[in-house]
Amino acid sequence: MNPGITQDSEGSISRRLKVGIVLNLLFALTELAAGLAAESLALIGDAWHNFSDVIGLIISWVALRQVERPANERKTFGYHRASILAALANGIALIGITLWIFYAAINRLGSTVVPDAPVMMAVAGIGFLMNVGVALSLRRGTRDLNIRSAFLHLLSDGFVSLGVVAAGVIILLSGWSLIDPLLSCVIGLLVLAGCWDIVAETVNVLMEGVPRGVQVDRLLGAVRSFPEVEDVHDLHVWSLSSHVYAMSCHLQVTDLQASQGNRLLDRINQMLKERFGIAHTTFQLEAEACTLEQACVLNAKGPAAVLQPH
Ligand SMILES: [Zn+2]
Ligand SMILES: [Zn+2]
Repeated sequence: MNPGITQDSEGSISRRLKVGIVLNLLFALTELAAGLAAESLALIGDAWHNFSDVIGLIISWVALRQVERPANERKTFGYHRASILAALANGIALIGITLWIFYAAINRLGSTVVPDAPVMMAVAGIGFLMNVGVALSLRRGTRDLNIRSAFLHLLSDGFVSLGVVAAGVIILLSGWSLIDPLLSCVIGLLVLAGCWDIVAETVNVLMEGVPRGVQVDRLLGAVRSFPEVEDVHDLHVWSLSSHVYAMSCHLQVTDLQASQGNRLLDRINQMLKERFGIAHTTFQLEAEACTLEQACVLNAKGPAAVLQPH
């Protein structure tokens, strides 16, 4: 969950996601059926691309809902990682489908199949209007990073659909049907690039990697900037899902009373939530730095001195 999102706007995001999922799914199914009927690999490839977009939307929607599902005695972290596992499985499945498109395109090279150009143009034309229409409706929000990337994605989807329309025109005018498998390969490469992003991001989460957009040196600097904090070590920062970040570390502090320590932790937590979106923290307060043997086994041989216990 992004910090600062109110209950209300989250409900409306969830609603918009649901509408987007249903519309995209209907269109992708139509496009797949039309692509198979018209024997157009480009249309089939574009349909799979749209399925990958639907899956992305479903994952965002599920991730939003998982946040509400409480942890229990058997899953103390709750179910945040479920969306990551689903994203990884889908990313790998889509890579397989894309390889099939390449294979079909190669087989098409020597064949005499001519795709049904009017069907290609009609269906892809609808796709173009849909994508560009939704993109333009988001245009005003393009300063927000998420909306900006959605805007760019929709625009590029629109141009892919326009490419399929153009391929239909070329087939109608010149009969050069090779353009269809060629275009399907270009679309396949775009799908692969998107899948690569999904797989890389999910693997980073599963490897407990530092969340995208969080820089450890800036994080350390921010925690050290509190006057009571003398040193920070044994730091871990990771993501439970693409939206929920967690952090743990040892804080070596001036000799504080327990109540002062409490207030310090409140201030640090507030800062971490606002500046880094970190919403789950565990701190160990130390008046003197702990010794190597007592500290975290993970950092015993780590290369970064600052992450090690001193
Ligand atoms: Zn797309
Ligand atoms: Zn320590």
